[in-house]
Amino acid sequence: MSIRVLPPETAAKIAAGEVIQRPSSVVKELIENSLDAGATRIEVYLEEGGKSLIRVADNGEGIAPHEVELAVKRFATSKLETAEDLVRISSFGFRGEALGSIAEVSELSIETQKQGSESGILMRVHAGKMVSREEVVRMPGTTVTVSRLFFNLPARRAFLKSEPYERRLVLEVVRNYAICFNDVYFDVKGPKQTYACYQPQDDWITRLKEILPDLKNVELIPIGASHSQLSVKGVIVRPDQARELSRMQRTFFNSRPVLYRAIFRAVLEGFGPQPGSQIPFFVLMLSSPPELLDANIHPAKTEVRYRDERFLFDYISQLVRKGLHGQTVANLDIVERPGFRRGSEWISEMDAKQLSMDTNPSLQTRIEGTLDETDVTGVKGVTGVTGTGGATSGEYRESADEHPKAFRESQTSFWQLQNSYILAQIASGLVIVDQHAAHERILYEQMLERLSSNSAKQPLLFPLIVELTPEEFATFEEIESELSELGLDAEPFGPNQVMVETLPADSRMSASDLRELFREFNATSEVKLGNRDRMAALISCKAAVKAGRALSQAEMESLINRLFSCKNPYFCPHGRPTVIKFTMDDLDKRFGRI
Ligand code: ADP
Ligand code: MG
Repeated sequence: MSIRVLPPETAAKIAAGEVIQRPSSVVKELIENSLDAGATRIEVYLEEGGKSLIRVADNGEGIAPHEVELAVKRFATSKLETAEDLVRISSFGFRGEALGSIAEVSELSIETQKQGSESGILMRVHAGKMVSREEVVRMPGTTVTVSRLFFNLPARRAFLKSEPYERRLVLEVVRNYAICFNDVYFDVKGPKQTYACYQPQDDWITRLKEILPDLKNVELIPIGASHSQLSVKGVIVRPDQARELSRMQRTFFNSRPVLYRAIFRAVLEGFGPQPGSQIPFFVLMLSSPPELLDANIHPAKTEVRYRDERFLFDYISQLVRKGLHGQTVANLDIVERPGFRRGSEWISEMDAKQLSMDTNPSLQTRIEGTLDETDVTGVKGVTGVTGTGGATSGEYRESADEHPKAFRESQTSFWQLQNSYILAQIASGLVIVDQHAAHERILYEQMLERLSSNSAKQPLLFPLIVELTPEEFATFEEIESELSELGLDAEPFGPNQVMVETLPADSRMSASDLRELFREFNATSEVKLGNRDRMAALISCKAAVKAGRALSQAEMESLINRLFSCKNPYFCPHGRPTVIKFTMDDLDKRFGRI
């Protein structure tokens, strides 16, 4: 086939299709123009989900009569003068493409009046050709009406979906801008109905809650920080609370709703490994000097690229981490205390003093003496929940030496509620720890931290034989080496049987727990793909001390101490909280003292 240059009308239609795919893309471009024009009120009207008519009316600055024709030409823009301007653009538009593209594939009318003028212009354009132009008198601002979208591009029109579907996409676009521009009034109406109406709000969180009412029932954790290269404000919601929200994450960069995978990954990283399909919810608003952000890598500008992506990633993941801890910081009155043992720096000195483990050796013997060995299936040198005999205590003792003497001497009382929760007094009130969740977190971090090291394993006195189904056995064979790295050594032993020789340090698992564990491995696709985090989460869930088991004072103390040595002590690997706190203030309020 010989190469030919396309006729200009065909080329224009093809190019238009890159920017404008459906009613929602028209609405996006028109709203951006209105916002660029400084509008404080934007009204969207749809017929047939925008397939037959879209109207966007604003109260922005308007277009001067002699410029209206230019506005609908492609590559006509008032926002860019030289190519250099492109690197520091701060308006939404700059390519001068939108109105031209829309006009090319629809019947468009534009009615506009400059602020302060007596009259304005109404101009109609069909498939890129002007058909009329007249003077009108109206309120200052601009109204663009787009009818019969893609009437001259049947292939494209055929791709449009049902009215409700297209309308949903339009609403999604409007909501995005409404989140960012909380001081602007937005509405979306149809012939019979109002679909959305957002009054101006002083703060964006109020607007956000209006848009996502589910947020009213969850704990929003604010995050934010400012840096000359990058500022961030936003909210995050823990995965266990996010549920229905978990697919509605949003990121805005310099007020533009964007898809930015690196940011998504950074947030996940900040939350730490979350087993399963649980995803946190977040809304992040980033801003940077415009020259650091390339908004010109995608036709619809829905993707952007920040100049230093490594910095962006670290900055965001750290903010999220800080936000998660900060939240508990607030709850636990945490004061930063440099030099304190890792993980505990968020507990105030007084609180930590009361929660600190007594490392006095006689106590340690007592701890080991109190162990109930009946449910640990013949584990050699078992440390159970106390962790005082294994490698765990080695690490702890080492750092415990840094503690001031007085600190170590303090004694605390712990109470166990229904053999499931540990209650402990701290300086500012009371903490309640979920013993199973806490131990899960401890085991999980230990397993992942000590990958492949021998200290991660505890040999079984009597190896356990576990009977598997053929599928479970096949899964086992695939993940055998990963399991061994996590501290679980097992070997094939006869057809569809494995012999378990070591468990991750500090685990407590019976033969039936192991049996169940192998069943779960086989039922979890991420595990089959070799995902160690997921394996560790499943193991820790089975191996952690169960609710319902009585713990001694020393065991409780040890558990709490080790919990606060974790990197992320406040949540179990499934994202549920491990600790809840009641301050004296909370209690005083409940009792009507204050
Ligand atoms: P861009 O936004 O990239 O400049 P558009 O094709 O979207 O290109 O718009 C072309 C020009 O028309 C804009 O630069 C602006 O000057 C003017 N314009 C478009 N819509 C409006 C509006 N709602 N209010 C005021 N001016 C507008
Ligand atoms: Mg534009």
